[in-house]
Amino acid sequence: MIRFEQVSKTYPGGFTAVKNLSFSISKGEMIFIAGHSGAGKSTILKLISGIVKPTKGKVWLNNQDLGRLNDNQLGYLRQHIGIVFQDHKLLFDRNVLQNVMLPLRITGYERKQAEHRARIAIEKVGLKGREMADPVTLSGGEQQRLCIARAVVHQPGLLIADEPSANLDRAYALDIMELFKTFHEAGTTVMVAAHDETLMADYGHRIIRLQEGRLYA
Ligand code: ADP
Ligand code: ADP
Repeated sequence: MIRFEQVSKTYPGGFTAVKNLSFSISKGEMIFIAGHSGAGKSTILKLISGIVKPTKGKVWLNNQDLGRLNDNQLGYLRQHIGIVFQDHKLLFDRNVLQNVMLPLRITGYERKQAEHRARIAIEKVGLKGREMADPVTLSGGEQQRLCIARAVVHQPGLLIADEPSANLDRAYALDIMELFKTFHEAGTTVMVAAHDETLMADYGHRIIRLQEGRLYA
């Protein structure tokens, strides 16, 4: 489903965040990306979602070379990826339900259908009963669940998450990992990046380990 072919990314300013990376991820796989802050984890996820382009090499997603897609095509592709990024802000002037409905409304779903789907996503992440809550009243873990509900409301085939459990106590962090596992078990390809490898240890899934932009075993 995803293939990196000797991919390097140098940011404007000259810093090379990932270096000559090659790996593949199969459809339906769950995979972790581990590495310290600055190792290049976010850059990999941004390359997959077409937010940044490789300086060298190719990134393939569903047999499409992302470097050959125009912005419209990338936009369309991104609608089929669920993205949980650290800097994805919740809208604090809207309630939980409205936050989850928004991505569907933007892509043209009418209100009733968007609401129906949003309620299902909210239930899946364990926030049933909080639909009318203001996000600011949610705990950190609940806000993260809300971000995940928003990412999965499109029922994407690929779900990618960047440090989804950063800033959470360990027990809540593990709950979030469990939640990703349920999406994986439902057939979604899941990629989760985190600096804390101990959160990944019990799952037996493949771990891509990064150090200064390179893979190591
Ligand atoms: P991680 O997610 O593992 O913390 P990142 O992929 O965010 O790593 O960053 C890897 C390196 O690339 C870091 O040193 C970071 O400062 C740098 N970097 C990330 N994004 C940019 C950018 N837009 N411009 C310049 N440097 C960047
Ligand atoms: P993370 O460590 O989770 O990747 P950061 O806090 O390093 O996130 O980066 C936050 C945002 O700033 C990201 O979008 C990243 O691409 C960008 N960024 C990171 N480092 C730099 C940098 N040196 N110059 C410009 N932008 C950067």
